[in-house]
Amino acid sequence: MKQGKLLYAGKAKSVFHTDKKDTLIVEFRDDITAFDGGKKDTLKNKGSYNAGVSAFFFEHLEKHGVKTHFLEMLDNRRMAVRRLEMIPLEVIVRNVAAGSIVRNYPFKEGTKLDPPVIVIDFKDDTRHDPMLNDDLIVALKLATPAELKAMKKAALGINRLLSALLAKQGILLVDFKIEFGRQGKTIRLGDEISMDSMRLWDKKTKESLDKDVYRFNKGDVMATYNRVAGRITNAASLPAGTKKKPAAPKKGAASKRPAVAKPKAKK
Ligand code: C5P
Repeated sequence: MKQGKLLYAGKAKSVFHTDKKDTLIVEFRDDITAFDGGKKDTLKNKGSYNAGVSAFFFEHLEKHGVKTHFLEMLDNRRMAVRRLEMIPLEVIVRNVAAGSIVRNYPFKEGTKLDPPVIVIDFKDDTRHDPMLNDDLIVALKLATPAELKAMKKAALGINRLLSALLAKQGILLVDFKIEFGRQGKTIRLGDEISMDSMRLWDKKTKESLDKDVYRFNKGDVMATYNRVAGRITNAASLPAGTKKKPAAPKKGAASKRPAVAKPKAKK
């Protein structure tokens, strides 16, 4: 597959055309930003960790019946994906109160949210991604009521699957943000699911294992991403209680997923 012209460059990923009309390439760059782009850095290898974890999650979700844009990894930071018409919504699922929900509402950080709380924001940096409600989403023609229902149902299913997967590695899925797009009439999960878009806590220590380490200068961001990528990508292939071993090679697209937890020289 040939990479073509740049279609779109976001804050941490670039999207390229390919020689196939319905296929795009997403490149996970090493750029990291927080606070609406107010804090910016480039961290060597960040892109490959996020690409590897995203690919791992997409494969796991597809295996369990969730439709995603993922096709295959081309190298350790470039992913071939189905072309979607993206819906400019950020669908956030929260299992535990943290982040903006604690700043904006009287929740104590760490409070379990059961059932999980879905919050949907308008993906629009110029407006600072304001929170929407169902009526606004339909009135703004961002999604139909049926699409909205489908996205919420998919988001809760993804939450159950990823929470269970991460729990096996002693990781609590506090919250995460996902984005959907249309392929004809089908709604598919797009974008990424990575340490940049999830809040992950070590179950025992409650240590942050995600972009909060960068946002709030909690420690060595790349050491954390390296460690957590290793923990996550070993999770599914292991029956509980067995020793870690590399995931067995899989057929087709799956075989191109790179190992993400390569040992790396520390600074
Ligand atoms: O900041 P807030 O608490 O609303 O974020 C909730 C979750 O959504 C976090 O896991 C955060 O990393 C993710 N998020 C994101 N992109 C945004 C806003 C939030 O990935 N633009």
